[in-house]
Amino acid sequence: MPASATAVSIHPFRESGRALNGAEMMHANPYRPWPARITSITELTATETLFEFRFIDDCIREAFHHEPGQFVELSLFGVGEAPISISSSPTKEGFIELCVRRAGRFTERLHQMQCGEIVGIRGPFGRGFPLEAMRGHDVLLVAGGLGIAPLRSLINNIHDERSDFGKVTIIYGSRNPSEVMFRHQFEMWRHRKDFDLYLTVDHADDSWDGEVGLVTRPFANLQIDADNTFGALCGPPVMYRFVVEEMRKKHISYDRIYMSFERHMKCGVGKCGHCQIGHQYCCIDGPVFNYWEAKNIQESM
Ligand SMILES: Cc1cc2nc3c(=O)[nH]c(=O)nc-3n(C[C@H](O)[C@H](O)[C@H](O)COP(=O)(O)OP(=O)(O)OC[C@H]3O[C@@H](n4cnc5c(N)ncnc54)[C@H](O)[C@@H]3O)c2cc1C
Repeated sequence: MPASATAVSIHPFRESGRALNGAEMMHANPYRPWPARITSITELTATETLFEFRFIDDCIREAFHHEPGQFVELSLFGVGEAPISISSSPTKEGFIELCVRRAGRFTERLHQMQCGEIVGIRGPFGRGFPLEAMRGHDVLLVAGGLGIAPLRSLINNIHDERSDFGKVTIIYGSRNPSEVMFRHQFEMWRHRKDFDLYLTVDHADDSWDGEVGLVTRPFANLQIDADNTFGALCGPPVMYRFVVEEMRKKHISYDRIYMSFERHMKCGVGKCGHCQIGHQYCCIDGPVFNYWEAKNIQESM
């Protein structure tokens, strides 16, 4: 073993004496969280915040690649670990963004943290949206509430490689105007001709001049090329059945409808069984499933 490989080195070595590269290091032990620094904090709503993280180790930072829809296990030292979807696009390298809702002990502690503080991150894990299959096709993206967190990764990826995709339609529904996340980004896109954007709220107030109604409401006006369209959705469980129904009314093939699920999970790598649904593990077989797979997931549709 080379003299530089001490017990505290974070760069493990192969038996051959060659240092592992970043990707090998991450795969060598999927349970090992890698230190990352909080580099930006943006409050989105009263309960949701966007955190930007950068891995401290250069090799890990360069080796980290994800697919839209994948998640990481985020650990706060002395508090615990939680699965969180990656909200930034894979086209943006060197950092990842996580959009986190304050829900309980773990997320509350995260919301108290400051820029510069260190967390642990392992991953990315799971199966994301089929980005490569979507290229060359129209895409209809439907998000409800916090469902925008994983879908934003896909939306921003499509934005950055816009010419690879056909018509792009985004429907994003929130309960009320104060819960709309990434409002500035969507306000900018509202004026672009290459995105059809529908923002809806269940209950409007004086600040809202957009659509009012459930996330299914804009479907009435949609012109869909059914043979050429992929559907992607993420939101509260109650939304799935109704959105899928609308997609089917537009004759989008079930084979091309993909949805992301959240299940309580621990290990993230298909070992502990916490997220097992029937014969599937949400952490490795999902969290993104196509319609046929999702149909077998209890209580999902
Ligand atoms: C694949 C995956 C991706 C996720 N992505 C995000 C994300 O991008 N942003 C985000 O804010 N949260 C996300 N979550 C949920 C997040 O993991 C939980 O909110 C977090 O673990 C709650 O921890 P806590 O200690 O703060 O709250 P707890 O006290 O543990 O729980 C508070 C409340 O949240 C509910 N809850 C806890 N865990 C989950 C869960 N896994 N799914 C649904 N509800 C849960 C509890 O039932 C309880 O009602 C994701 C979960 C999964 C499985």
